[in-house]
Amino acid sequence: MEKNNTLKLKFESARKYAPAPESRSAAKINAQYELFINGRFEKPLSGKYFDTINPATEEKLSQVAEANDADVDRAVKAARNAYENVWRDMPGAERGKYIFRIARMIQERARELAVIETLNGGKPIRESRDFDIPVVANHFFYYAGWADKLEYAFPNRRPQPLGVAAQIIPWNFPLMMAAWKIAPAIATGNTVVLKPAETTPLTALKLAEIIQESGLPPGVVNIITGAGATGSALVNHPDVNKIAFTGSTEVGKHIQRAIGGTAKRTTLELGGKAANIIFDDAPIDQAVEGVINGIFFNQGHVCCAGSRLYVQESVLGEVIRKLKDRLETLIVGDPMDKNTDIGAINSRQQLENINKYLDIGRAEGAEMYQPDIELPGKGFFCKPTIFTNVAQSNRISQEEIFGPVLTIQSFRTDDEVIEKANNSPYGLSAGVWTDKGSKIFNLTTKLRAGVVWANTYNQFDPTSPFGGYKESGYGREGGLHGLNAYVKF
Ligand code: NAP
Ligand code: MG
Repeated sequence: MEKNNTLKLKFESARKYAPAPESRSAAKINAQYELFINGRFEKPLSGKYFDTINPATEEKLSQVAEANDADVDRAVKAARNAYENVWRDMPGAERGKYIFRIARMIQERARELAVIETLNGGKPIRESRDFDIPVVANHFFYYAGWADKLEYAFPNRRPQPLGVAAQIIPWNFPLMMAAWKIAPAIATGNTVVLKPAETTPLTALKLAEIIQESGLPPGVVNIITGAGATGSALVNHPDVNKIAFTGSTEVGKHIQRAIGGTAKRTTLELGGKAANIIFDDAPIDQAVEGVINGIFFNQGHVCCAGSRLYVQESVLGEVIRKLKDRLETLIVGDPMDKNTDIGAINSRQQLENINKYLDIGRAEGAEMYQPDIELPGKGFFCKPTIFTNVAQSNRISQEEIFGPVLTIQSFRTDDEVIEKANNSPYGLSAGVWTDKGSKIFNLTTKLRAGVVWANTYNQFDPTSPFGGYKESGYGREGGLHGLNAYVKF
């Protein structure tokens, strides 16, 4: 009992940092945003606007234009015109200069972009500042470097651009997903119409301002806001050559059906349910920290989140105890505070979805553990959650929850854990924690996942490809593979 009290005191003091809020003054957010078409901000033909909010406070940040079919058509026409008359035939070295300039401007405005990413999306400022925005700039730098070297990327072949690319992105890494899509497309001579997610349009619109200031020829990148109907109109536009989509498996399937029989090319980056695997010879403290990072990073709004933990039986008790202890010290709350580990859930709808799965998990007989903390009174928040006593067939271990929810199961042998890890409709990523190189090689060759991290998790680099197997989609983004998705021979 005394030990418990001492621990509780320790946890409480660990959470008691003085508030360290990032200033909002760096972020200039307009009261209203138009559509970015042909290098200009244009009022929507639809005449409609919708509110965009801060999910941590539910306050309105701005209102943005809602593009209808006619607006989509205008944007695609602008992209087609820029493709045929300017961009396709511009020498790669010249294209590269524009992309380098965009990359440098992103670095210069990194602080403003980070603050807006956090205000509009709910992720902790530490993440948008130290992870998202640097990765965004790196992606533009990396693909700018390829623009004049495509003949070396594809030796003895003649890579040609595809044409107009329709790019549709989700709300979990708004600016990062925009960078992953735009940079390789324009480096290879394509032009773009990008639609950000309904709930997180603001950093994409900031990027539109940067693109405008960079002097990129009008129409090379067009950014139009709206909800699912706008995305659908873009997918179905007859003059689009390529569709690059990141989002739910459900919408991904819908898109596949919609373009069946057309010549449109696609890459689909869909959901995930990654297995994170700890062997008994792993450095346990490091592994526990990696598991925490793997699932609670960005509130679990990560398609490659390590949401299924498999622990070798002999260390199961130790790992669960250490995970619970660590959970007690995580700081959940104001995303603008530099101490915050877990920020706001992106929307009310997503919070309701996560809560539904917490009910399902309990009804399925799993044991739920959450730290004893208070959540903010306003905004959308969820406690970090661990489920033990989980069966492989439980919905919480099969379906993507997309929130800070971890299921834990045990295993005895390599073969058993490989079978359990692969027993999933998804196959985006996985993690392996062990001291033995031979085990790492054995697992990385047998796990059906696009990315397998060993003794680390959630590492991203513009030079390395990312993408899934099975219902996690197809095609790769990043690295040379990412260029390949935007050229034909
Ligand atoms: P989503 O509905 O698939 O949305 C992704 C993007 O597609 C958004 O820009 C969305 O617009 C647009 N869209 C919606 N319906 C469309 C349609 N019929 N045709 C073309 N585009 C369409 O995903 P979400 O609503 O953001 O999140 C739902 C679930 O998706 C999550 O719970 C999670 O499971 C999954 N997800 C996966 C990833 C990933 O990286 N793999 C990322 C985010 C979400 P609106 O924003 O206006 O709906
Ligand atoms: Mg949606």
